[in-house]
Amino acid sequence: MLHLQNFLNGTFSPPISGNYLPNIKPATGEVFSQIPDSEEQDVQAAVEAAKAAFPAWAGLPAEKRGRYLVRLSELIDQNLERLAEAETMDNGKPLSLAKTVDIPRASSNMHFFGTGIQHFASEAHMMEGVAVNYTVRKPLGVVACISPWNLPLYLFTWKIAPALAAGNCVVAKPSEITPYTAHLLAELCVEAELPAGVLNIVHGTGPKVGAALVEHPDVKAISFTGGTQTGKTIARTAAPMFKKLSLELGGKNATVIFADCDFEKTVAGAVQAAFANQGQICLCGSRILVERSLYDKFKEAFLQRVQTLTLGDPLQPDTKMGALVSEAHLQKVLSYIELAKEEGGTLLTGGERVHLEGRCANGYFLQPTVFENLPHNCRTNTEEIFGPVVTLQPFDTEEEALAYANITEYGLAASVWTQDVTRAHRVSHALQAGIVWVNTWLLRDLRTPFGGTKQSGVGREGGWEALRFFTEQQNVCIKI
Ligand code: NDP
Repeated sequence: MLHLQNFLNGTFSPPISGNYLPNIKPATGEVFSQIPDSEEQDVQAAVEAAKAAFPAWAGLPAEKRGRYLVRLSELIDQNLERLAEAETMDNGKPLSLAKTVDIPRASSNMHFFGTGIQHFASEAHMMEGVAVNYTVRKPLGVVACISPWNLPLYLFTWKIAPALAAGNCVVAKPSEITPYTAHLLAELCVEAELPAGVLNIVHGTGPKVGAALVEHPDVKAISFTGGTQTGKTIARTAAPMFKKLSLELGGKNATVIFADCDFEKTVAGAVQAAFANQGQICLCGSRILVERSLYDKFKEAFLQRVQTLTLGDPLQPDTKMGALVSEAHLQKVLSYIELAKEEGGTLLTGGERVHLEGRCANGYFLQPTVFENLPHNCRTNTEEIFGPVVTLQPFDTEEEALAYANITEYGLAASVWTQDVTRAHRVSHALQAGIVWVNTWLLRDLRTPFGGTKQSGVGREGGWEALRFFTEQQNVCIKI
């Protein structure tokens, strides 16, 4: 049995309590590793290590810090197969997805910020004939990065890379449900000879490790991705301590389809947006709004495609839908399916747990599920389910589409499908969402601001936004 360890001050250390938690393979239901059930003292040790490492790390030229990240990116590439297999084992996602999306993106995150930091210039403001101002951006010190289970290494590195590039030292906590690739990344940090204490990883639960990090007075900023309720808890603790906060929270995203769309591409895009990673992506389009004149044709083609998605062992190359992340999460999603029925929804396809044969007999598999005939403002249509459950809703006018799309308290992402470019701009601007895709979904340029409005979060990640978050400005004004 694999025993993961915390990564403190450049070495692998058992939790001070000696307690471990079981870590389960979602595709089989088997325990495959034990992870540290860390506590406040482990967090304290990690923060001490990070504090000690900070002056030297912050003092390195940006290019040298960047080189460590580029080296880590190369090591991730060299270990692509191993990391992808680990991600699939830990999360239940199809291996093909881990190989083509999760792990390559983790590598890109490291490379992007490792090189980007060398182009991060400070600003100057001239007061003609009077003074010159220049603005220095300094690293904050010790920062915390807390990430969720749905895209484990992808989101873990998306936070760590800009934090380190900007000169901070990091204490990071991966989700206790999917800690394995973070542990493997620590091994790569040793191989890359990242100086001790620059990145520390503490495994364990949110209420213990996460909360201790948020409460720690020496942790200057929290970069968090996870659920909206957890985000609120974190903000309540961190705000009175005047910590910088970046909160990337939940979503209930609309896919808005007009009758003038490119039909085949739209159907394919809507299916991908609905069911990629078993619907467990904060950006998934779980409310599909379709112009009434296209509704029946779209429904037929959409259902046909959904019914041919291959659900199965995530290790099989043709599998498109793997396992949900845990039994508890599967039960939560199933409870939403019951709720949708109670709310009067018509089940068009799916709705059942799947028991596969062979090694995956006890895995957490669920059919892709589609409902229609639900009120726009019911719980199924407004609460985040975070699983393979979507609804179809017809609309008559653009105004109606916007009203339905904007009805939820979330405001993370949306996609718009039309060939009318004027409408595409108009609708995009009127959508209450931090990210809008037109005729595509989840196409990411790492330079763009990433984040949500309303209950979907505070702040933006990506590009300069991330480097700005992880630095503090100081203006120096020199009189001429
Ligand atoms: P959670 O909010 O439950 O957990 C996220 C992370 O926070 C985990 O590492 C968790 O630890 C930790 N945590 C839990 N409680 C606390 C606490 N009190 N203090 C500090 N940290 C804590 O989210 P999930 O892991 O369930 O992830 C799913 C959610 O993430 C969905 O709502 C999804 O929309 C959102 N998400 C948002 C994204 C975005 O960019 N906006 C992207 C991806 C996901 P542990 O797991 O050990 O409990």
